[in-house]
Amino acid sequence: MTKEVTTKLLIIGGGPGGYVAGIRAGQLGIPTMLVEGASLGGTCLNIGCIPSKALIHAAHEFDQARAQATGSPTGIRVQRPQIDIAQTVRWKDGIVQRLTGGVGGLLRKAGVQVLKGWAEIEDGKTVTVKPHQGEPVRVRCEHLLLATGSEPVELPSMPFGGAIWSSTDALSPDLLPRRLVVVGAGYIGLELGMAYRKLGVDVTVVEAAQRVLPSYDEELTEPVLQALQKQGVVLHLGCSVASWDAQHGVHVRIDARAEDFALPADRVLVAVGRRPRTAGFGLESLQLDMAGRHIAIDAHGRTSMRNVWAIGDVTGEPMLAHRAMAQGECVAEQIAGRNRRFEPMAIPAVCFTDPEVVVTGKTPGEARAAGMDCIDAAFPFAANGRAMTLEAASGFVRVVARRDNHLILGWQAVGKGVAELAAAFSQSIEMGARLEDVGHTIHAHPTLGEAAQEAALRALGQALHI
Ligand code: FAD
Ligand code: NAD
Repeated sequence: MTKEVTTKLLIIGGGPGGYVAGIRAGQLGIPTMLVEGASLGGTCLNIGCIPSKALIHAAHEFDQARAQATGSPTGIRVQRPQIDIAQTVRWKDGIVQRLTGGVGGLLRKAGVQVLKGWAEIEDGKTVTVKPHQGEPVRVRCEHLLLATGSEPVELPSMPFGGAIWSSTDALSPDLLPRRLVVVGAGYIGLELGMAYRKLGVDVTVVEAAQRVLPSYDEELTEPVLQALQKQGVVLHLGCSVASWDAQHGVHVRIDARAEDFALPADRVLVAVGRRPRTAGFGLESLQLDMAGRHIAIDAHGRTSMRNVWAIGDVTGEPMLAHRAMAQGECVAEQIAGRNRRFEPMAIPAVCFTDPEVVVTGKTPGEARAAGMDCIDAAFPFAANGRAMTLEAASGFVRVVARRDNHLILGWQAVGKGVAELAAAFSQSIEMGARLEDVGHTIHAHPTLGEAAQEAALRALGQALHI
């Protein structure tokens, strides 16, 4: 027997996109149901942003302790630090459970009905949910919101399983491998690769492009490259991975020379990108317009079918949690009758390597490529007092602005702790700030944020501390 229910809005997927859309829809009085097949919080809370940052933090603490054991300039001395990785994983899981439980509570508070099970689309207004236990439920809805997220890309010759790790496996190790080969020097490869190195693992990174973090500009990634080399991470750039076998390890091809070599490895973390989750739940039956592998949407989040909406990773790049959340809120408000569009001036991107990298708005190269006459200026952390007290004097903040009216177009930063500057960067762009607005705002001393103020002053030819 299939139970039949009706609702105004049905959301498929309880990740940052889907759950935020659900909360906002509930707040606005829209009768809403949300289907989640795995765990509320989606990739981000369960197997992405949050657990990775927990592991990165624990690895950093351990690395600091090890450095202190061999002589820190701060005078701190520690003897023989050790890590109990099983306890680290339990601590990380505890954070995940608190947050995912919190999402359930927020949805309840907003009056959203959560259906636990996998959704199968019948048509744009009918979805069958197969619960983990009990009878299927057929939901008829007025609006369908697709928030099914993304999944990691596999290398055909090395499917996930056993020694071949996806990011999910790397976030819950039962033991620390002695030798880890990381395929891909993008976000996941470098964030987790660096964390494993800090945990004492021998890490080798194989990247097809000629440099690490190839989606960022080279000046910005140079301090990351230096940190990798200082940490002792071995890099093979311009190389791709052909296959793996337990005896020889990873077979690597130097692309330019068509030569092969083998890298011994106990575990291989494959981090070569993620793809939108569009198959296996009847999506094809809707025959929506696609843009490559992802669902095509307009500036409202509408797909090519009336009252079928899509948000988050399933709608392509940038595949970031905060974008998914902002899209979710925007779509919920439109279903409630509000006039909204998703047209942010900037979506910040942060890579949580050590040093961290932040990009928001346009880089100098992007501004020039768009035909804009712009000025840019950087301020180094070597001249920032707070950075010195944090033993974090490498890296810089850079600002990009229009030459004629000094409107700020973009910010980039690399350095320890710069992730926390992303808010100020994005606010200045969204609010249409000029260089003078930031340069003449009193910034607290001593803080890393003063480097942003000084970069703005420098662009005006008025830098004080350089
Ligand atoms: P998801 O979070 O993927 O959620 C989709 C949900 O839909 C899933 O829970 C899935 O089970 C459910 N679902 C799918 N199909 C069905 C179905 N048929 N029926 C029922 N349920 C279904 N982003 C950042 O911004 N910052 C970071 O620091 C960051 N770190 C990351 C680290 C890692 C290791 C990874 C893998 C990703 C990271 N990301 C980060 C990316 C971020 O996790 C995603 O951009 C974000 O989760 C996308 O949200 P979403 O709601 O679109 O999809
Ligand atoms: P990515 O796109 O960031 O990096 C993949 C890297 O793999 C690229 O540098 C690419 O050149 C390389 N590559 C591809 N095929 C290869 C091959 N066969 N051999 C060697 N190298 C190869 O992808 P990712 O690191 O898997 O992350 C996926 C997505 O998850 C990101 O794009 C991002 O949207 C999201 N994410 C975000 C954060 C964050 O915001 N801090 C952190 C982790 C993940």
